[in-house]
Amino acid sequence: MAGKDYYSALGVSKTASQAEIKNAFRKLAHKHHPDKGGDANKFKEINEAYQILGNEQKRKQYDQFGSSAFSGGGGPGGFDFSGFQGGNFSGSGIDFEDLGDIFGGFGDMFGFSGRSSGRAQSKRGADMEAILNIDFLEAAFGATKEILIDKNIKCEKCNGNGAEPGTKIETCKTCGGRGKILKNQRTIFGAMQVEAICPDCQGEGQSYAHKCSKCSGTGIHKGQEKLKVKIPAGIDNGEAIRLSGRGNAGLKGSPSGDLILIIKIKPSDDFKRDSYDIYTKKSISIKQAILGDKIDIKTIHGDVVLKIPEGTQSGTTFKIKGKGIEKLRGSGLGDHFVEILVNIPKGLPRKDRKTLEELDI
Ligand SMILES: [Zn+2]
Ligand SMILES: [Zn+2]
Repeated sequence: MAGKDYYSALGVSKTASQAEIKNAFRKLAHKHHPDKGGDANKFKEINEAYQILGNEQKRKQYDQFGSSAFSGGGGPGGFDFSGFQGGNFSGSGIDFEDLGDIFGGFGDMFGFSGRSSGRAQSKRGADMEAILNIDFLEAAFGATKEILIDKNIKCEKCNGNGAEPGTKIETCKTCGGRGKILKNQRTIFGAMQVEAICPDCQGEGQSYAHKCSKCSGTGIHKGQEKLKVKIPAGIDNGEAIRLSGRGNAGLKGSPSGDLILIIKIKPSDDFKRDSYDIYTKKSISIKQAILGDKIDIKTIHGDVVLKIPEGTQSGTTFKIKGKGIEKLRGSGLGDHFVEILVNIPKGLPRKDRKTLEELDI
């Protein structure tokens, strides 16, 4: 793609005026048009060159950055040629409906503006996102949740086909079921037979007398779906579960989009989490800290006995291995870290104070 010379493709000089460029394009397009026996690749090349040079702004960018500025949707201009390079030019050749007003708004015809290119608009339902709130322990151990999602659902009255039940669905008479018709169009090349979307069936190839009264012929309507979602153990905040085909229903029985559930974990009063490890704090008495002890630590897997060695300092953290969260990817469990805080008593009774004073500590 890099280094395409659009000027030589059109056979014009770098200082050519817009009128000269347009003129050159007309001549070449006429000569190389595939419907007139021309070379489709050559025609494509000419078109591509004209899209850039025929537009002052894009021409400037091209002069500055070269053709790489327009490649693959990436470059500085962010232009996307994918629509241009795609199906339009394969098969039987160029589809004139796509060229539309061939010399007006040309740049927009091939997805320059970033929208999806061409007229082959997908009727697939849109993907959708929803937040799924779960509890701390549900995230740690996994769960099955029942959720209710507001979305476009398939119309149950017409079963998604858009026709009022009882009305006959028949092959469109206008296009004979092809969804396309040939029509005469006057172009700069003279009158031509071009393919166009059938105006009666909008390309579906079918027609029916009455649109479904529930969905106005779209095959979908706003509704709710109840879903059971399996949440894997170990999932973390912000991670997502994609349920393919559970998003919005598509128009007229087309496939549904995906549903993406973004996990939000409610904080726990007892546990803090960092990745697959759990963090807690535990207070012990000054006596336990000095003499050592065995104490119960609450973990997500239940109570665990922890040995406090004698002379434990406040702020010491102990690791309890394998008492954390099951790893979502890979195997094993995280650990539980407990920070020991030594409780220094205030306002000792006189008797204790005396005892303490007598100690050599
Ligand atoms: Zn319906
Ligand atoms: Zn039709």
